[in-house]
Amino acid sequence: GDFPIETDTIVIGSGPGGYVAAIRAAQTGQKVTIVERGEVGGVCLNVGCIPSKALISAGHRYETAKESESIGITAENVKVDFSKVQEFKAGVVKKLVGGVQGLLKGNKIDIVKGEAYFVDANTLRVMDDNSAQTYTFKNAIIATGSRPIELPAFKYSKRVLNSTGALALEEIPEKIAVIGGGVIGVELGGAYASFGSQVTILEGADDILLGFEKQMTTLVKKNLKKKGAEIITKASAKSVEETENGVKVTYEVKGKEEVLEADYLFVMVGRRPNTDELGLEQVGVKMTDKGVIEVDKQCRTNVNSIFAIGDVVAGPQLAHKASYEGKIAAEAIAGEPSEIDYLGIPAVVFSEPELATVGYSEAQAKEEGLEYTAAKFPFAANGRALALDSTDGYVKLITRKEDGLVIGAQIAGANASDMIAELGLAIEAGMTAEDLAMTIHAHPTLGEITMEAAEVALGTPIHIV
Ligand code: FAD
Repeated sequence: GDFPIETDTIVIGSGPGGYVAAIRAAQTGQKVTIVERGEVGGVCLNVGCIPSKALISAGHRYETAKESESIGITAENVKVDFSKVQEFKAGVVKKLVGGVQGLLKGNKIDIVKGEAYFVDANTLRVMDDNSAQTYTFKNAIIATGSRPIELPAFKYSKRVLNSTGALALEEIPEKIAVIGGGVIGVELGGAYASFGSQVTILEGADDILLGFEKQMTTLVKKNLKKKGAEIITKASAKSVEETENGVKVTYEVKGKEEVLEADYLFVMVGRRPNTDELGLEQVGVKMTDKGVIEVDKQCRTNVNSIFAIGDVVAGPQLAHKASYEGKIAAEAIAGEPSEIDYLGIPAVVFSEPELATVGYSEAQAKEEGLEYTAAKFPFAANGRALALDSTDGYVKLITRKEDGLVIGAQIAGANASDMIAELGLAIEAGMTAEDLAMTIHAHPTLGEITMEAAEVALGTPIHIV
């Protein structure tokens, strides 16, 4: 056999969970090795958050160029060279992947290429195409992420695509069918609809974007329809037949069978954790029957030397949640008392308008029997929103009735993805509606909508009666 290499902390996977955990562990003085079988940066940088946002933003530019007549601007001959859009996307990804590699090296972290497999609670084996190496560790952090669920009736192929395939198309398809009206289906379906594809989303439930409040999903549906997309809810997709240059998707709605023809079928029905080929049974790491690793508030598994973070553990499958857990796990290994608190983790949909939520929604507050106040202020009553010609949406603030403590917020509207940060801070810092109302927001900015929502909560709004 080979000579084992000793390390303090070994991190498996270099996505937003793994690379952040590795850097934080190095900052606390640990000798760190990170193992990656694919590309540094994981799903998020390579085939997730970043490339999808590059496509979405390019789609917006195209739409805005075409549709600014209402503010007096017409552009003729607006065209898309999709191969250049793809080049732009690839360039963004490449820059970020290079950046992360540089950060890992700068923090003196060993980057090892290969597939990791647990031998026991302190030993890992890493296999490359033609070599294998054993590592012994004091602690390991599992950050192996997730992959798209493949439905038996919808095997991935040239025409039946998961999110990775959907991001890599070389041309803008004329017609796309999407199974799943979740975040990824809505974002990528929406992006191609912006570029002019005729998109049909089949959703099994009675609404898209499960978990987001009705008023939010209504705004998104309105915009998708404006883009020419169709949304069919309570639709159960049954099968797909590949034709010479497309697909025929059979689905059932209201007890009737229907057929939908398209160039491509996107299957976006969720993701499953990459925990099935890691040797976890062998070391006795506890998982649910869906392969989700069970952890405590420091991200420690039932095996003392093994931690797990990101998409492999419970909670929302989001990059910033993975990074947050990565810092906690690395600090826990260093002996710090850090613990997870999920309340302040925001969730964003990069739809049109953008949706963002943090902390409690009204529905959740009700469910827990909390005494709360919901205070809302519309974008349409804000000067900056009007000047941006972007008046769809609102900020809703959820505060505790007894003392005005901010416990949640929902934002629909332009830049909701950035605006939610202030509300995350409010939750994290234990602020009240009064604190937000007293914070001086520059004029004219969208941030004033948040300030005014806080004034609504206090019963003293200035710009609404
Ligand atoms: P991953 O990013 O999945 O990284 C895991 C890494 O581990 C991979 O690189 C993999 O190769 C490696 N690995 C796995 N097994 C092994 C092994 N045995 N040995 C060695 N290496 C291994 N989230 C957001 O917050 N915002 C967004 O806008 C957003 N958009 C998204 C868009 C799309 C299309 C998709 C698919 C996802 C999106 N997400 C978004 C979700 C986000 O990408 C994930 O939540 C995030 O990447 C999870 O990070 P992670 O570190 O847990 O795992």
